[in-house]
Amino acid sequence: MENKKVAVIGAGIAGVSAAIYLKRAGLDFDIFESRAVGGQLLFVEQVDNYAGLAQGVMGRELAATLAKNLDELEIKPITEEVEAVTVEKQKVILKYGKQNASYDGMIIATGAAFKTLDIKGETEFSGRGVSYCAICDGFFFRGKDVAVVGGGNSAIEEALYLSNIARKVYLIHRRNNFRAMEYLQNELKHKANIELVLDSVVEEIIGTDFVNQMKVKNIKTSALRTIESNGVFVAVGIVPTTGLFKGAIDLDDAGFILTNEEMTTSCDYIWACGDCRKRPLRQLITAASEGATAAISAYRRLKGGYISS
Ligand code: NAP
Repeated sequence: MENKKVAVIGAGIAGVSAAIYLKRAGLDFDIFESRAVGGQLLFVEQVDNYAGLAQGVMGRELAATLAKNLDELEIKPITEEVEAVTVEKQKVILKYGKQNASYDGMIIATGAAFKTLDIKGETEFSGRGVSYCAICDGFFFRGKDVAVVGGGNSAIEEALYLSNIARKVYLIHRRNNFRAMEYLQNELKHKANIELVLDSVVEEIIGTDFVNQMKVKNIKTSALRTIESNGVFVAVGIVPTTGLFKGAIDLDDAGFILTNEEMTTSCDYIWACGDCRKRPLRQLITAASEGATAAISAYRRLKGGYISS
């Protein structure tokens, strides 16, 4: 079986940053991405808070730039799903397609997936009114009434985005204050067609072929309300994509990978970066810096090399 120095799993901004630094440090490696390069950027409309990009940039545009980065460095992602990971005797063995490959180390940059509400009607109407991405699906709700569920940055951004497309947007949140950044909350005040439905949870999504209403409960008063809505955008957070690594490295109770500040996991030849990792700030810029840190930590451990920080 062929052995290389490092496997990078995932080509969002964390994985691509790791790949750039590995390449420049002269380590041989593979980067795996079963979908498109860019990860969650593909679902982000506009990135406005990345240092150096004063005018902002569209998420898809930045994702395309990441793919170009790899291209220019002659890094060709392996577009297969990694199906199994075995960690033993100082090696990481990956199974993908019909192959196994062996590595001296691994950088995990698998990101996270959208969390679901787990309520009646959610799975049934997924793709028929229930969506997890306003940028992807908002267009189908032109002039209609929609709801967004959640109180974080994603929910407010989705509500603001949809308010320019839909007739009316219900923003349903289980508490009466938002955890989203203040500037986003302020923008809500300028939107006449966003109705806040606070202290409330969606109990059921109802429809025939497509969603047409929701049962919403005020958790303080127990009052039930029916909201007529053609779409429900669920934006209640993320779950880390770390199932493959359970047992091999330490995860927290929610499944996020635990690392030290060098991005080293509980196994000293496995590193993690980006949204799959337990971290205080989930931002593009921190994912990029963590990818770079993970790559240099791998370089130091696997090549015994020193790059001054
Ligand atoms: P988040 O910050 O974890 O917020 C999730 C929201 O959903 C919270 O308001 C939470 O309510 C609510 N929620 C969770 N489970 C729920 C359930 N079962 N039923 C109803 N409501 C539920 O998630 P996010 O907004 O997706 O953001 C993920 C990360 O990406 C964050 O770190 C965020 O800062 C980052 N992000 C940043 C930007 C930006 O900087 N522009 C944009 C998007 C995302 P509680 O508040 O009551 O817990």
